[in-house]
Amino acid sequence: MTSDDQPLLEVEDLTTTFSTDDGTLTAVDGIDFDVETGETVCIVGESGSGKTVATESITKIIKTPPGHIEGTVRYKGRDLLSLPESELRQIRGNEIAHIFQNPQEAMNHCYTVGWQITEALQIHRDVSDEEARAKAVDLMDRVGIANASSRFDDYPHEFSGGQKQRVMIAMALVGDPDLLIADEPTTALDVTVQAQILRLLDDLQDEFDMGVLFVTHDLGVVAEIADRIVVMYAGKVMERGDVLDIFDRPAHPYTQQLLECLPEFGGTGGGIPGTLPDPHDPPDGCRFAPRCEYAEEACRTGEQPEEVEVAPDQQVSCVHYGPGGNPSIVRSEGHGPGDGATGGDSEVGPADD
Ligand code: SF4
Repeated sequence: MTSDDQPLLEVEDLTTTFSTDDGTLTAVDGIDFDVETGETVCIVGESGSGKTVATESITKIIKTPPGHIEGTVRYKGRDLLSLPESELRQIRGNEIAHIFQNPQEAMNHCYTVGWQITEALQIHRDVSDEEARAKAVDLMDRVGIANASSRFDDYPHEFSGGQKQRVMIAMALVGDPDLLIADEPTTALDVTVQAQILRLLDDLQDEFDMGVLFVTHDLGVVAEIADRIVVMYAGKVMERGDVLDIFDRPAHPYTQQLLECLPEFGGTGGGIPGTLPDPHDPPDGCRFAPRCEYAEEACRTGEQPEEVEVAPDQQVSCVHYGPGGNPSIVRSEGHGPGDGATGGDSEVGPADD
């Protein structure tokens, strides 16, 4: 919590639409979530669920137009969506930093890595060249770049994929952010390096006392790092709650199916059969109904069901948990991975990626 007991980040009724040649595309449709200082909240869902657009709407890094953002995004109590661009720019990269999936694309290959970090530093801080170099080397060291001082003048092509992501994390830390938004930061990396980067983010979160908002389609990654989960599907929140509760007792059929795909839990590692609905023309009722084995007529009319608390701090949007519903239809034994689902705590070695 921040000093006045507000969450670090509060998102309310966030809706992001895009004008397209085929009409209005609704990527995010009235979602709520929050992030406290020092915790990791994972937004989980398949590609196209709206999770990236949701996080990019927070600091308005999506283009508007064609995008249009409505709702409230309070950061330490200030509504970011109503701030002038000049004030928002001060917050972006300083108090709220983003890291993205592909460090290869995010770096400028014509400049040394050290130059790029010092450039980012001097945008945000009034520091001399010498101070910026010292701070950049320190950050490279803290994110696990071995021999940081001698690597300062190397170019991006001289770094491996994992090392490039470490550099991007160093650049994100130049403003000592209180909130780090990480969008699939390990997806482009091999499994061993992915584990190292996740461990690094975990360590840095403690060191910098940051809130982390982590976007991923990979529930295996979630098990490693999340405190809480927000499960998104077709622009809506399907389920939210504590990571241990949701992994042990997933309530929503979509969450159950996501978990059942994981090889660790007996799945094949493939996806859920079927595809997401057309965001230009989503179905009435529950967005997941066309792919849900428990769908009934009541699921196909009206709006997405209201979220219902099914356990302390666990909410789910499904008619079977609502008034007159029968949760046992959905929550039969055998769904969910049960014991041992979380805490895939494999040891990772030194930063040799
Ligand atoms: S509301 Fe209906 S379609 Fe949606 S998840 Fe629940 S049972 Fe399935």
